Amino acid sequence: MKVVPVPQLADNYAYLVIDPARAVAGVVDVAEAGPVLEAARRHDVTLTAILSTHHHFDHVAGNESLLDELPKGSVEVYGYSGDAERIPGITRPLDDGEEFELAGLRGRAMFIPAHTRGHLAYYFEADKSVFTGDTMFAGGCGRLFEGDAAQMKASLEKLAALPDDTLVYCGHEYTQGNLRFAATLEPNNAELGRRREEVDALIASGKPSVPTTIAIEKQTNPFLRSASPELVASVQAQVAGLGADPVEVFAATRTLKDSF
Ligand SMILES: [Zn+2]
Repeated sequence: MKVVPVPQLADNYAYLVIDPARAVAGVVDVAEAGPVLEAARRHDVTLTAILSTHHHFDHVAGNESLLDELPKGSVEVYGYSGDAERIPGITRPLDDGEEFELAGLRGRAMFIPAHTRGHLAYYFEADKSVFTGDTMFAGGCGRLFEGDAAQMKASLEKLAALPDDTLVYCGHEYTQGNLRFAATLEPNNAELGRRREEVDALIASGKPSVPTTIAIEKQTNPFLRSASPELVASVQAQVAGLGADPVEVFAATRTLKDSF
């Protein structure tokens, strides 16, 4: 597998997921068809699938116009079965755990609701890669639009249970801001300091901060660190009466981030 990030709108990423042996690609989350078609041409691949993580416009607004530009019936559109009515052009509704083939690549849908009630990740086990949309970001997580803190915590833990060396491709370039917030909660987390330097250097040289890895996220993402004593103490210092219950700490962390 070869993965090509394709910048979309202000700070979104679509991703070409390429099977180099067949010169075929799927694309994760299309906001704008033009840059996706241009990237496919540049890499000389035929697009045969759209993998939509969730229904928000900045992830699916380009589905129909991309389909219009490609041979009719040549492109499968994947999305969560329970949210099919909100995924434009869907042809292959997927349930949690359902497997699919993208040229020679084998993928699996993971149901990870909370940002929206019908959110999927696309996991490619043999290629050690997962596309997490707006659920797990590098250094953060999506806002709770259609689910609650307990649900988001469970969805993130489902992703965090993947092997440590799994590459994580998320839906937005929010990493610098996310890590700035993380550092306010864990100023003594040495791994977080090291990661901030790495990301600042990438962004300064015009490169994406993605992919991250599950190992890096477990060490630096405040939404996977509700058991860190330093993080718990920092959140408690800002939220009167907060105990140490991990879901309540998680919810309070999410609320603090909403106004950071
Ligand atoms: Zn979203």
